[in-house]
Amino acid sequence: MDLGIASQVMESYTQIDQTIAAFQSATHLDCPPGCGWCCENPEVETTILEILPLVIELFRQETVEFWLQRAADSQYQGQCVFYQPDPSIPGNGRCQVYPWRPTICRLFGFATVTQKSGQVQLAACVKHKAALPAILAQAQGAIAQNQVQAPNFAEVTQQITNLDPTLGQERMPINTALRVAIERFGLYLQMTVQPQDLPTQELSPPT
Ligand code: SF4
Repeated sequence: MDLGIASQVMESYTQIDQTIAAFQSATHLDCPPGCGWCCENPEVETTILEILPLVIELFRQETVEFWLQRAADSQYQGQCVFYQPDPSIPGNGRCQVYPWRPTICRLFGFATVTQKSGQVQLAACVKHKAALPAILAQAQGAIAQNQVQAPNFAEVTQQITNLDPTLGQERMPINTALRVAIERFGLYLQMTVQPQDLPTQELSPPT
C-alpha cells in the first residue's frame, strides 16, 4: 500500500487553503470568531480518500481507538465527532483535527458553485449573510467580474476524487467515513508501520 496518496491529498488541501487565504485577503470575508456553525450541521459528508490523511495522523498519535469509540457512540452518523462545542457560547466551537479536516470543511463559506446558466456564485454561509452582508455582496461582485478567485466546489471535489476514484467517489457521513477508512487501512497501518514511521512531514498542517 502506498501512503503517498495521503500526501497528494494534503497537497490539494494546501492549494485549497492558499486559494482561500488569498480570497479572504482580497475580500475581507472572514468567519465570526469561534463560529462552529458549519460543524454543527449533522450531515457533513466526506470520502475515504479525503479522510485518509486524518486517519494516518490518528494512528501516528495513537488515538484511533478513542475516536473509533466516539464514532461508534454516534452510531456513525450525526454531528462530527471531532467537533468540540464551546459550552459557554452556543453555536461556537472548534475542530479538534483542524489541519487534517476533509475538503468540505475547508471550502464551506468560501467556495463557488456554477449555476445552470453558467454563472459562478459564492455558496454563501448563512452566518456571513447575517453578519457581513456588505462584504459578502462585494465578494460576490468581485467573483462575477473575475477580480478574485475562489475555489469551485465541483472542480475541487473532482480534482481530489481523481487522485484515487476508488477511494474518492463515495460520499458518506463523516463518522461513517472514519470507521470505513480505519477498517480498510487500519490493519495495514497497525501491522506494518510504527507510528513514528508514518510520513508526518508530508502530513503536517498546511502553512
Ligand atoms: S472535521 Fe473538523 S471542520 Fe470538519 S466537520 Fe468535523 S469538526 Fe468541523
